[in-house]
Amino acid sequence: MKKTLQLESISKWLPTASKPIIISGPCSAETEDQMVTTAKQLAATGKVHALRAGIWKPRTRPGQYEGAGEEGLKWLVQAKKETGLPVTTEVANAAHVDACLKAGVDILWIGARTTVNPFSVQEIADALKGVDIPVMVKNPINPDLELWIGALERLNKAGLTKLAAIHRGFSSFEKGPFRNAPMWDMGIELKTRIPELDILCDPSHIAGNRELISFISQKALDLDMAGLMIEAHINPDAAWSDAKQQVTPANLAKIIDGLVVRTVSSDNKTFKDTLSILREQIDQLDDEIMSKMAARMKISEKIGQYKKENGVTILQVNRWEEIIQTRITLGKAMGLNPDFTTDLLKLIHQESIQIQTKVMNKVEERV
Ligand code: PEP
Ligand code: MN
Repeated sequence: MKKTLQLESISKWLPTASKPIIISGPCSAETEDQMVTTAKQLAATGKVHALRAGIWKPRTRPGQYEGAGEEGLKWLVQAKKETGLPVTTEVANAAHVDACLKAGVDILWIGARTTVNPFSVQEIADALKGVDIPVMVKNPINPDLELWIGALERLNKAGLTKLAAIHRGFSSFEKGPFRNAPMWDMGIELKTRIPELDILCDPSHIAGNRELISFISQKALDLDMAGLMIEAHINPDAAWSDAKQQVTPANLAKIIDGLVVRTVSSDNKTFKDTLSILREQIDQLDDEIMSKMAARMKISEKIGQYKKENGVTILQVNRWEEIIQTRITLGKAMGLNPDFTTDLLKLIHQESIQIQTKVMNKVEERV
């Protein structure tokens, strides 16, 4: 695969004794006391590897707390002094970058509302030319993988190699159980496109509430993400931003303790042998599924031809409903999730209709 980015692994620029990497701290730095006390309590858990806090807050509506500004940077640096932990904050323009570099912030991150804008990302990249500082790039608000990769490329072109991505979910019109839809396949696709890129997950902004943080964190670890960024506050309910999704340092420690960290592979011989047998079985089944699928599409083509000769429409709603009902019942009896069966059938049906449309509209060659 073509190497698109020159990267240094996060294990080099944020070395940690334990996995996963945990970055935690308040959504916003509010006061020096809130910042430093939260930081100290987090450090005391022994489970946190870097501290976060928003200094300039991008709020959806004006009139909400927009961050402490440069004054807050001093509190963040104070928290670093008192805990010995590296600190990170969000930058959205060149002025933020300059202020952070002057203050001694260790790691920068680009927020979801900034990643969407190539002008802003370029401005940040230009401001960082010749500076060797780690930058984490949150996914854009909208599920556009190219924008996410584009932001990483702009930074990389400016000479920054200590890069990581943060998966914080995607804004969606349909309101589900999450504040931001995780759309895990976006993270998987990013990892597939750039395997050497470390991805962290931000369960706080995906969940939007503290109850779902453990569940999302576990899912992220099971997808082999390198770490988690979780918002924590000494008094979450009284937080000036994102109150519902923040946890106390003590609860953060509980969440981390409850996570199961699985390895990507094991050196154990029996494990490897068993895995290779199971993988062979999967390969075999996939072969069968593909050839059956190809055979099914060939029949669709024949049906298309036959419908054409008889002047019949492609879509026959009754037939389609019957297919869905019988297959879902069958699938259920075999232990398949009905949602999965429906999605699979929809995909097959779409392709089948496309094939029949092609047959229907094919202009016969005239002799
Ligand atoms: C944040 O981390 O507090 C934040 C504003 O995040 P995002 O850019 O993901 O919305
Ligand atoms: Mn927040």
